[in-house]
Amino acid sequence: MSTTQPAAPAPTGRAELLGFDNVEMTFPDGTVALQGVDLSLKRGEFVTVVGPSGCGKSTLLRIASGLETASNGSVHLATDRIGYVFQDATLLPWRTTRSNVELLAELHGESKARRTQEAQEAIDLVGLSGFEDHLPRQLSGGMKMRASLARSLTLDPEVFLFDEPFGALDEITRERLNDELIRLFDEKKFAGLFITHSVSEAVYLSTRVIVMSGRPGTFVGEYEVPFDMPRDPEIRFTREYAELVGEISHALREAH
Ligand code: ADP
Repeated sequence: MSTTQPAAPAPTGRAELLGFDNVEMTFPDGTVALQGVDLSLKRGEFVTVVGPSGCGKSTLLRIASGLETASNGSVHLATDRIGYVFQDATLLPWRTTRSNVELLAELHGESKARRTQEAQEAIDLVGLSGFEDHLPRQLSGGMKMRASLARSLTLDPEVFLFDEPFGALDEITRERLNDELIRLFDEKKFAGLFITHSVSEAVYLSTRVIVMSGRPGTFVGEYEVPFDMPRDPEIRFTREYAELVGEISHALREAH
């Protein structure tokens, strides 16, 4: 049975941008990917979901974006400015960085002058200035991901979804991009929903970390992250950080 009740009102003064109320996802072949999922995401929150492979994390993001419709429960999305970044940068190989970054604005029918300006601002924000005329094959993995981030930034997203965007990168590049993403989050104050397999990355990036159980995925733990934004990279070497990573890793092992 489908419930039509609106998501619960936000407990704080900040507006809820994305709300899940008792969401379930059963695919036509009978696979139950999600069950009883409640989520409230407000502006200025960065929430990361960790969970075993196949537990329904990507499905959660696809439902949040509207690409997929939940089979039960209700989803409330208070904006149409949604950014979505995937593990694959999904750049068009024949387009330059600038032209790839302009793509979404082009599809929205924006004028050439406007989209060129927006693309340049986004390229500068992600640190790709000087690479505007390069083709994707001339960029490193980290640079491609920066271009992918820039392309979404041109939408000025209020809700920003990230499906393991840095999973394929080496550790140093990943840490650098984590810092860039935190800087962007601190500047733009969007609502972030991020997926990763790395508990350390989850704690470093997030204001809140959610642990999902194995399929059917449901939330089995939530952890507020107490460190200030923007993050000081040195927190990674503190005892408090290591203890939180340890606690969440333990919960994740139990969730399998
Ligand atoms: P995760 O991102 O956590 O690895 P997914 O959300 O991709 O997991 O998938 C959750 C489960 O749903 C998996 O068992 C997957 O095989 C299944 N699944 C995903 N999409 C479909 C689909 N369109 N039809 C049937 N099963 C699907």
